[in-house]
Amino acid sequence: MPALPAPSRSKPEFSSGTGEGQALVIFVLGGPGSGKGTQCANLVRDYGFKHLSAGDLLREEQDRPGSEFGDMIKEYIKDGKIVPMEVTVQLLENAIKATIEEDKNRKFLIDGFPRKMDQALKFEEAVCPSVFTLFFDCPEEVMQERLLNRGKTSGRSDDNEESIKKRFKTFVETSMPVVEYFEKQGKVVRVKATASPEEVYKDVRKQFGEKGIEQIKK
Ligand code: UDP
Ligand code: MG
Repeated sequence: MPALPAPSRSKPEFSSGTGEGQALVIFVLGGPGSGKGTQCANLVRDYGFKHLSAGDLLREEQDRPGSEFGDMIKEYIKDGKIVPMEVTVQLLENAIKATIEEDKNRKFLIDGFPRKMDQALKFEEAVCPSVFTLFFDCPEEVMQERLLNRGKTSGRSDDNEESIKKRFKTFVETSMPVVEYFEKQGKVVRVKATASPEEVYKDVRKQFGEKGIEQIKK
């Protein structure tokens, strides 16, 4: 993969859209356990998006033999902290380019990103402006219960009570400002995420329809 750190350029690599030189990017945010991954899977199936989870890309990089960032990523994830943005932005850019080249797909759901203002600014400035942010609004008690349940089988180093507490704190202090920033631009699609996955997805589809995002023909 191209050398890190993240690109610095005066214009984004892609403009927003699905044509040549373009990418269609929707950010997916919400607290840990709010259901981002579950709903992204639905959207991939019905809308033909490519799902890129920032957390998954970081875990992959952490496990990649020879990665110089492995140990750092491990520590940050366990502590529920945000990995320095250069690493994450570059991993995402690499994945976007690979998807366009290999799958000829230019429609992306970027899940669990941007979680911090510096990432949001950097990504939109250097990689691609987003169309909007899909935000899953969920109370902490509900998320905690889901995460502890998931922790029984996920094998994730951060699905335990201590890490969950830290992740909630990071979410409120560091990630919510990103949602508010996009909200001021009128670029947030907010969905209440307490109901069942089916109910929540109904609302997602309705709001995607209102935004003019079309389902693929099946
Ligand atoms: N993470 C990060 N930067 C990102 C996205 C994720 O540093 O842009 C790290 C962070 O430590 C986070 C962890 O990866 O707590 C797990 O992220 P993931 O999206 O997998 O968690 P989820 O929100 O799905 O529970
Ligand atoms: Mg996830």
